Amino acid sequence: MSRTVYVNGAYVPEEEAMVSVFDRGFLFADAIYEVTAVLDGKICEWDGHIARLQRSLGEIGMPMPMSSEELLEVHREIVKRNNMEEGAIYLQVTRGATDRDFVIPKDLPQTVVLFTQAKSLTGTKSGLRVISVPDIRWGRRDIKTVQLLAASMCKSEAKKQGKDDAWMIEDGFVTEGSSNNTYIVTEEGKIITRNLSNSILPGITRKSVLRIAEELDLEIEERPFTIAEAQKAVEAFMTAATSFVTPVIEIDGVKLGDGTPGPVSKRLCEVYIEESRKASC
Ligand code: PMP
Repeated sequence: MSRTVYVNGAYVPEEEAMVSVFDRGFLFADAIYEVTAVLDGKICEWDGHIARLQRSLGEIGMPMPMSSEELLEVHREIVKRNNMEEGAIYLQVTRGATDRDFVIPKDLPQTVVLFTQAKSLTGTKSGLRVISVPDIRWGRRDIKTVQLLAASMCKSEAKKQGKDDAWMIEDGFVTEGSSNNTYIVTEEGKIITRNLSNSILPGITRKSVLRIAEELDLEIEERPFTIAEAQKAVEAFMTAATSFVTPVIEIDGVKLGDGTPGPVSKRLCEVYIEESRKASC
């Protein structure tokens, strides 16, 4: 069945959803995106996603295409029109369409696209096997732009090697996963995750998971870690909006702990989903 897609104010069948070949999102990756989870037909972590969207747009000199209330309304409407109970909403805002020129144009009508991806998000997680790869991305990974080729290539390389995902390495330290933030748990039960900077995306799930960990009295240290340190961890996991907390059971061929999902990631995932459902809107 064809989905209903939102394009610049219109709700249209996906086959009719079009943007210009001159769109700067297409030509220059001059665009920002957000992916938001839907549980029970409601939007999760709205405040976090809208705040990050606004910040990302601001960092590349673009305004919000509409108010946050209007954007929430479009999110709700697209969920309703697609009868989606569980899944993801993808939002992309581009600078708009004009003749190709490297100089960033001013005041173009922006392109706004939303579509849904219905899928089950809450099933049991078996644990992922990851490889490490060099981080070849640009220096402003804190901005959620649609320049995802490096991430797409490293995830594809993981799949080619029969694994699930890739952790990216810069100057000997893990930055993040192809589309997620990364964590290890030490023998003493301490959670270590890379501190926020221009090197990683400030995950919305990361923020909530760290708050929950604190509420559960788990010790947290925000600093870079190496693959060697991660391979000695008793547990590892990653976080992202539509996969919540996902255990990692193997890094570059080395099994962590007993090779099964650990208790810290399981507990954090349970509480995260419970809280997300309650706070969804
Ligand atoms: N890092 C990267 C590179 C990502 O692409 C994502 C997911 N978009 C994340 C981290 C996790 O962010 P969030 O929890 O907001 O989905």
